[in-house]
Amino acid sequence: MLIIVTGSNKGIGHGIVNNLVENATKPTTILMTSRNEVLGREAYDALLKKTNKEYVQLHYHQLDIVDQSSIDRFAQHIQEVYGDKSIDVLVNNAGYMNKPTDRQSESAEPTLRVNYFGTVRLTESLLPLMNTHGRIVFVSSTLGALSHHAPNVQEIFSSDSLTIEELNKLESDYISDPKAAHEHGYSNSSYTVSKTGVTTYAKLMARDHSNDPRHIAFVSCHPGWVKTSMGGSEAPLSIEDGIQTPLYLINLNYSELISNNGKYFDLKKVCP
Ligand code: NDP
Repeated sequence: MLIIVTGSNKGIGHGIVNNLVENATKPTTILMTSRNEVLGREAYDALLKKTNKEYVQLHYHQLDIVDQSSIDRFAQHIQEVYGDKSIDVLVNNAGYMNKPTDRQSESAEPTLRVNYFGTVRLTESLLPLMNTHGRIVFVSSTLGALSHHAPNVQEIFSSDSLTIEELNKLESDYISDPKAAHEHGYSNSSYTVSKTGVTTYAKLMARDHSNDPRHIAFVSCHPGWVKTSMGGSEAPLSIEDGIQTPLYLINLNYSELISNNGKYFDLKKVCP
């Protein structure tokens, strides 16, 4: 069983790996990743000491999800070390929020570049390496809920005929002119637009890959408002609380998971 967690040097991603290395009850290889190799290796060395080595092998590799050459090196590493179709679980956790400027036009490009386009780029690059009955868990947010947009934009994002190309365009239109997009009905939060994109992408991937013989599951979730660098010190939940829904989706038996393919979860329950 190979599990990859993006952005796992700190916060929720680190919490997920921490829980898995301590509690795995079957042979599992966990691949920690971070964009900053020094920070990632420090976190890795600390977790290695507490790893239950009877079941778990903990490995590390650098991965910046906005850098295609980093993604390509990562994909090549997986192929060489673990082989074709070796990924059982990909947790798309890495994320960014430019808190002081979230509602201003300069936050649009950096936020959507990581949260939406980085996540999409990584998912598409690793898709060929996913195992049969693999699962891709997207850590999205309740701030991405459609209700944060005007009804006309809600309708576009939720249309059953929306394609991934059209979704990419909806996200890039926001980057091109956030002010005009807001006037047209988008939320004025770049973070919201990026996470609406992530939740919608998971849903469309489930639909578009339903005939893939590997039957890969795509699900998204909200971790809760969690005390991390992003969530801030006023957040009510600990990291231990915040990892519960992502962990639930990582561990959920496959038949239950695939019966909820494309869905969005909060507090371990499917939400609209
Ligand atoms: P943190 O800021 O603590 O951690 C974010 C992680 O993402 C860090 O490891 C960061 O790396 C990494 N990251 C950022 N950009 C990139 C990149 N380009 N490539 C690879 N990794 C990157 O935030 P959280 O742990 O709180 O957030 C984890 C996820 O949960 C995010 O997707 C977030 O949107 C989501 N979320 C969080 C909530 C909360 O209340 N905390 C609420 C709802 C959703 P680095 O250390 O180098 O910056």
